[in-house]
Amino acid sequence: MSLSLRHVAKTFPGGIRALLPTDLDIAEGEIVALLGPSGCGKTTLLRIIAGLETSDPGAQIRFREEDITRQPVERRKVGMVFQSYALFPNMSVRGNIGYGLKMQKLPRKQIEARVEEVIALCRLEACVDRAVTALSGGQRQRVALARAVAPRPRLLLLDEPLSALDAALRAMLRDELAALLRQFGITAIHVTHDQEEAMAIADRVAVMQEGRVVQVGTPEALYRQPQTAFVARFIGNAMPLDGRIEGALLHLPGGTLALDRPVNGAAAYVRAEDVRIAIDGPLCGRVEAVTFLGTHYRLTISGVTHSPLTCLHQSFNPPRPGETVRLTIPQDAILFLQPEETAA
Ligand code: ATP
Repeated sequence: MSLSLRHVAKTFPGGIRALLPTDLDIAEGEIVALLGPSGCGKTTLLRIIAGLETSDPGAQIRFREEDITRQPVERRKVGMVFQSYALFPNMSVRGNIGYGLKMQKLPRKQIEARVEEVIALCRLEACVDRAVTALSGGQRQRVALARAVAPRPRLLLLDEPLSALDAALRAMLRDELAALLRQFGITAIHVTHDQEEAMAIADRVAVMQEGRVVQVGTPEALYRQPQTAFVARFIGNAMPLDGRIEGALLHLPGGTLALDRPVNGAAAYVRAEDVRIAIDGPLCGRVEAVTFLGTHYRLTISGVTHSPLTCLHQSFNPPRPGETVRLTIPQDAILFLQPEETAA
């Protein structure tokens, strides 16, 4: 195990419980995303791992076999990349990238070789001699990444590194970052509130809610087997099928779905891609809105559930607003979860 956290928690003055006791294991070379809405404790957890924040008593943080719980930030050998780049504006790109190596007092030749190595890795050749103030947001973030990895940290921590960039650049850099981190072979923890970013970059995602990690898993596992309604909604926008389950029947305002087994005490959820238009479907609704999205249409349908249901529909001939449509939902696409009020 590369990094192991036990009972890591944080209570801020005034009794604000930013992080409830948390255990997490991260393997060597693994990339883990901490994903959750604003205020759920992601940054607090990251800062405790970095040594920028102390945990409540009783925590243990081990790096490989070493107990680093009380180690100060400068001895933890972590690299950090923030949303705000935090580059030195009065230094060139090379100067920024070499800064950490200079602080380590490495011989000049070695510094130069390492700087060149990460410049090539991060594809920064074209802008190395410029002032950082003359770079684009995407280039600055690549310099920040190069600067963080140049001293070969044993752990790389990234706090919303892409959120200052515009949407198109963010999507491009996201894939680049995913590839680069794997090339570096570095153990990394990436904080984000963006589900797509977490899924694109991380080997495993830890979903956080109100100060606790509620589920950890591969992007596929979280998507297909969410353990709580919160995870199902946060990963892939699952919608409640808020009707009445009676044995193996799910009664909804727009019709009754036959289930393949009786279900007790659970709430049903479905994702938009699993809601299908079918002439003989058991559900009936009214199309409220039709949005063309290139590869498919997004339909907003009322009357099936209490709140409007979204359906992703691929066809050259979509229904029109105002039309009545029949729908079906494949049984294996329905997620049965604890109702939200009682979810952990
Ligand atoms: P965001 O995505 O908005 O950055 P986050 O998930 O990273 O959110 P944290 O920054 O970890 O959340 O904050 C968790 C909780 O702790 C929040 O309620 C926040 O207000 C509180 N908090 C964070 N830092 C402090 C502090 N220094 N003093 C008091 N409360 C704090």
